[in-house]
Amino acid sequence: MSDESGFESVGFEVDDRLLEELLDRLEMQEIGGAAPSPRPIFDFQFPAPAGCPPLTQQDFNRIVRQAVVEAIKLANNGAIKLEAAVAVPPAMRNKGAQETARLYTFFFCHDPSTPVPWAGNEPSGITVAKRFRAIATELGGGRRIRFRCDPNCNPTTRAHTNQVDEPNIINLCPLFFNPPAQPGLPPEGFRGGVVLHEMLHVLFTSFFHHGVARGERRRNNAHCFRNFALRAMGYGQDNFAIHSCTDLPC
Ligand SMILES: [Zn+2]
Repeated sequence: MSDESGFESVGFEVDDRLLEELLDRLEMQEIGGAAPSPRPIFDFQFPAPAGCPPLTQQDFNRIVRQAVVEAIKLANNGAIKLEAAVAVPPAMRNKGAQETARLYTFFFCHDPSTPVPWAGNEPSGITVAKRFRAIATELGGGRRIRFRCDPNCNPTTRAHTNQVDEPNIINLCPLFFNPPAQPGLPPEGFRGGVVLHEMLHVLFTSFFHHGVARGERRRNNAHCFRNFALRAMGYGQDNFAIHSCTDLPC
């Protein structure tokens, strides 16, 4: 499988239909059989401060809504694939589950079935899947997340949060609205990945914090979670953020 840019994305042809069915079934269960579509609950602070993109309120809402919907899909997809990968012994995995395990091992240095001593020996992949599920639940109608545009970010920063001073607020930087062109990663995927990353900080504030000096490793690095979720979805990785994961110790 390859897109217009020639990027070789990871194929999940065999499992795509199954995945769609699972997603539909999960959504039907959650909302009692009504129309299966995620309903993001959020606010966008308008008007945006000077220096933000000159967009209408409708445009901002549309972009943020699309990003939130994409983050929900990334989170659910990552969870479903990890749950499938650890549901059977590694030798029994089908092609899709083998690919999930390969990607997981690339980002997190071990197989998703590896027991985690500090999580009651739960498989590593399940600990990650649970965090993804929590994100999908919150974005799909849990707490109300408030998004705002911050025109004064560092040029390479996509978004930022400070849960101590501003709980449930996610600041979106100019880079979020104007993503760099990247192979296999369209703007909505890029933005969905950014929302997923920030939600890890929002929901698990004491677990995800940046800086090796503060004990950051791949397992508690929001870039690693984001990049795994993007690749598991068939997107290209965020090349400008990949080293913020892969340069860290396992
Ligand atoms: Zn972060």
